[in-house]
Amino acid sequence: MSVIVQKFGGTSVATPEKILAAARKAIRAQKEGHQVVMVVSAMGHSTDELIELAEQVTDRPPAREMDMLLSTGEQVSVALMAMAIDSLGAKAVSLTGAQIGIKTDATHTKARIRSISTQRMRAALDEGNIVIAAGFQGIDEDFNITTLGRGGSDTTAVALAAVLEAEACEIYTDVDGVYTTDPRVLPEARKVSQISYDEMLELASLGAGVMHNRSIEFGKKYDVPILVRNSQSDAPGTMIAAESESPDQAVCGAALFKDEARVSLLGVPDVPGTSLGIFSRIAERNITVDMIVQNVGEGGKADISFTVPKNELAQTLEAVQSAVELFGVGQVTHDAGVAKVSVVGLGMARQTGVAQRMFRALADASVNIQMITTSEIKISALVEREAATRALRAVHQAFELDRSPAQRQAATRLGGSPRATDAADVVARLQGIDMEELCIHEISLDESQARVTISGVPDQPGIAAKVFDEVAAAGVFVDMIVQSYTGHGHASLTFTVPQDQLPSAHEVAARVARSLACQGVTSSPKVAKLSVSGVGLRSHTGVAIRMFRSLADAGINVDLINTSEVRVNVVVDGGKGQAALAKLNEAFHDVLR
Ligand code: ASP
Ligand code: MG
Repeated sequence: MSVIVQKFGGTSVATPEKILAAARKAIRAQKEGHQVVMVVSAMGHSTDELIELAEQVTDRPPAREMDMLLSTGEQVSVALMAMAIDSLGAKAVSLTGAQIGIKTDATHTKARIRSISTQRMRAALDEGNIVIAAGFQGIDEDFNITTLGRGGSDTTAVALAAVLEAEACEIYTDVDGVYTTDPRVLPEARKVSQISYDEMLELASLGAGVMHNRSIEFGKKYDVPILVRNSQSDAPGTMIAAESESPDQAVCGAALFKDEARVSLLGVPDVPGTSLGIFSRIAERNITVDMIVQNVGEGGKADISFTVPKNELAQTLEAVQSAVELFGVGQVTHDAGVAKVSVVGLGMARQTGVAQRMFRALADASVNIQMITTSEIKISALVEREAATRALRAVHQAFELDRSPAQRQAATRLGGSPRATDAADVVARLQGIDMEELCIHEISLDESQARVTISGVPDQPGIAAKVFDEVAAAGVFVDMIVQSYTGHGHASLTFTVPQDQLPSAHEVAARVARSLACQGVTSSPKVAKLSVSGVGLRSHTGVAIRMFRSLADAGINVDLINTSEVRVNVVVDGGKGQAALAKLNEAFHDVLR
């Protein structure tokens, strides 16, 4: 019989009435012929209240005891839910994480799931019960109660769906589904009917806080279709699956992260190990670095800029200062008043002119772009915070995200189709490893590209739009784009193109550079792009650091970097591609699967 997992979040079980309403949904699914597992969160804000209670007793609660405390929230809701189902005449049994056998590591308050036993759940289901599982909790080897991090019930739900090979995992929440952007910021945002795991991972990390990110990683890893629905209505919701809503659309959503801060290291040595020196110091302080851009070095010096959440700026500056002292040269600047606007879409990799369209929209709205990074499925631009909402609206409009894909203008599409995952293959590959372990699927080398860099670009609106308008008009296909801040009101703009298109790309760049009073254009006829892709790159920080370390050890200098939720790309000298590939394979051999 097919299994369905239904997860009800805190707001969906906040009152006795809502608990009864949720119980009815589960009973209905059972009557429709499914075996039903419910995963429930703590009622309303009770987790917050428990945390406050702890804070009133001590300002340093031991993490183990915090988990002991927080897990009680979910224990209350599972019991009440079982009573509700019983009162409505169906059979139910509530189970804690420990009773199910959700084994985690021992990292209290943010434990990772290692394995889940299905025996007890299966037995209860086969006896006709609705199984009600406490979300967010598990036990470690020594039977200590652990919790999975705030919002972790989503992860419990998708993980249970994975091990039970459920038909779907339904997430009942207080919104109708996933939107093209946050509807509280742009009322014209549209609910999407379907979105791919990769797109959702990007959007979630960009601040579209619909679901716990680790739950999406689970969904992707084990190929679990996730349906996000409103618990108060019968609206169809949004399906998160391998494919996106429409394979033809370049962009599925746009996101804004308002509280960003930029840090730039100007004039640091352009030698192997520089990035490692900087980012390992930041990682030691558990700070998540977001956009990383590095311009192509000149005269032995390079500029590296990156962003961090505004509230981690002070700590970051400390870390960076210690790196600069070690290098002996370099200047640090920062700006705490920036925001990041991004567009995400699986179809982007197969269309031309997507970046151009975004930059044009920003230029027409008189928004200055301070930094740019791109990945296969994401383009991010850093803008001043004051312009943030205007920038988001301009971009949302430019991609017609308020309309359904069928109503949008047709885009120029290149060949190719999204890769299909083989679920059985994936599951087979993952046998015998901890469920939330980092998985690197692929390390690849692309030696087909060349690089063009425009330096001394005046930092004013419209430049990127102009460059990529002209590049697109010349029929050149652009892959990576990196705009870096170089100080004194200037930026440097680098992009990669197919080697055979370098002459025309260089010519266009030179023409635009002259007309916009930029300093000059350099290019490299051959660069090597290395990509490390997989699942868990976000929750397992340190993938970029591992790359930097192994390349630095081999004396290979990194020219460009870009990162996304599913991939880290670096560009190195064209002659070093094979050596770099060998090094990376060595560095990641233990997690390649
Ligand atoms: N109750 C936990 C929290 O509030 C887990 C969850 O709701 O997903 O974070
Ligand atoms: Mg929650």
